[in-house]
Amino acid sequence: MSYDKNNIFAKILRGEAKAEVVYENKDVLCFKDILPKAKIHVLIIPKREYLDIYDFSKNATDIEKQNIFEAFESIISFYKIQKSGCRIITNHGVDGRQEVPHLHFHLMAGGDTGSMTKNS
Ligand code: AMP
Repeated sequence: MSYDKNNIFAKILRGEAKAEVVYENKDVLCFKDILPKAKIHVLIIPKREYLDIYDFSKNATDIEKQNIFEAFESIISFYKIQKSGCRIITNHGVDGRQEVPHLHFHLMAGGDTGSMTKNS
């Protein structure tokens, strides 16, 4: 998989597609997943083009990495889920079943997010 500048998240970042933004900082945009799998389901994405977690880990600046964690903190505070908790995951590549080729973290919360045991 390679970076496709026409992926839906790139379009959202360019303002060519709509998204329900809940938070942003200098390097990160956070918006609601269009097909939520939990009561709260927010996608957290870097504003620069990174394909996946490996690309980001290898090539992002320290500030960009810091700002991803700042966004996690802000979303958790915004939804007041510090105590109840959440699940944050990122899907990477074919085996991770990544659908959109722009790094994104799923933050899911608002009730038990289910077990992490393997199923179909
Ligand atoms: P993944 O399988 O990790 O690549 O997840 C891609 C996610 O993007 C899915 O949960 C989709 O529901 C979500 N998604 C796709 N298009 C949009 C969109 N236009 N706005 C918000 N979320 C979207």
